[in-house]
Amino acid sequence: MRIVRDGVSHVALVGVVTLLLVVAQAGVEAAEPFSTGNGIRVVLLGTQSGPTFNAQRIGIGTLVEAGGERLLFDAGRGVTTGMARAAINPVDVTKIFLTHLHSDHVISLPELLVYPWAQGRRTALDVWGPSGTRSMMQKFQEALAYDIHVRRDIDEKFPAEGVKTRVTDIREGTVYQSGGLKVTAFLVDHSPVKPAFGYRVDFAGHSVAISGDTKPSENLVKAASRVDLLIHEVGRWKGDPALTGPPDELMPNSRQTKAEARTIAAHHTDGVEVGAIFDRVKPRLAVLSHYNVDPRATLMLIRQNYAGPVEFGEDSMTIEVGDEVSVHRATPAR
Ligand SMILES: [Zn+2]
Ligand SMILES: [Zn+2]
Repeated sequence: MRIVRDGVSHVALVGVVTLLLVVAQAGVEAAEPFSTGNGIRVVLLGTQSGPTFNAQRIGIGTLVEAGGERLLFDAGRGVTTGMARAAINPVDVTKIFLTHLHSDHVISLPELLVYPWAQGRRTALDVWGPSGTRSMMQKFQEALAYDIHVRRDIDEKFPAEGVKTRVTDIREGTVYQSGGLKVTAFLVDHSPVKPAFGYRVDFAGHSVAISGDTKPSENLVKAASRVDLLIHEVGRWKGDPALTGPPDELMPNSRQTKAEARTIAAHHTDGVEVGAIFDRVKPRLAVLSHYNVDPRATLMLIRQNYAGPVEFGEDSMTIEVGDEVSVHRATPAR
């Protein structure tokens, strides 16, 4: 396998050109025709974990394109900004899959419900997620009822269909199938958050798996075995000496207590653990996303257990999965 990297200049140029095209087409109803051929294209819209603020980074959101479809996995803070950076019009993103209902995975849903509708979406928003998703989407509808009423019934008279939702509370198994494209949900272990899912996308003999938030998960190892691309979360190293100390003591340069940090770390997979997962799954390429850790230090932990191809995900990184797996960065390689 060959991993191909792209430099900043080419990506920046393509980004500017395609952004101009999207701006020129703003307000056009139909989705821009696009093709990934027999491959799958993945755009890491945002890679940051947790309900955190950052001037540069965007919350978790992963776009998977295949078979003429655009599928969004999780809707963290700023994913629409991530789409703008990748020259993707949110009007064209109408299928959303949620791994679990932590706020850092759903906080952009109210925006995705209303803004793309006001920009020209004419079809209902399809959302799949764990039990509770249907109720949550209904409450977002209720919370935004006044704006929806004004724009639908009084002022702009936007069509009612475009602000409707079709929501499916899912179970493990195939949750979406269209043509040769298949999305399968598998349970992961993000307890006490239950259920929490990872997803696997299959198309034309190619495959991508997304872990969602999870501790090391045997079910993920099974469901993602030998995928072309595994996108996995990574959290704080459980052996970090900064975690030791009295429960009420604060973490260095933080308002978080040691007890809180230990609890959060226990709900995720650390660098040593994710290396062991990669070693068993044996993906053609492993990519880390949903992280706040230092990439260099974490890669050293990963290398304790895994010698295969691995990349730290970055916002706006694009990964093409075909005969080759190629990585295109928006910033120069480390
Ligand atoms: Zn999360
Ligand atoms: Zn979570």
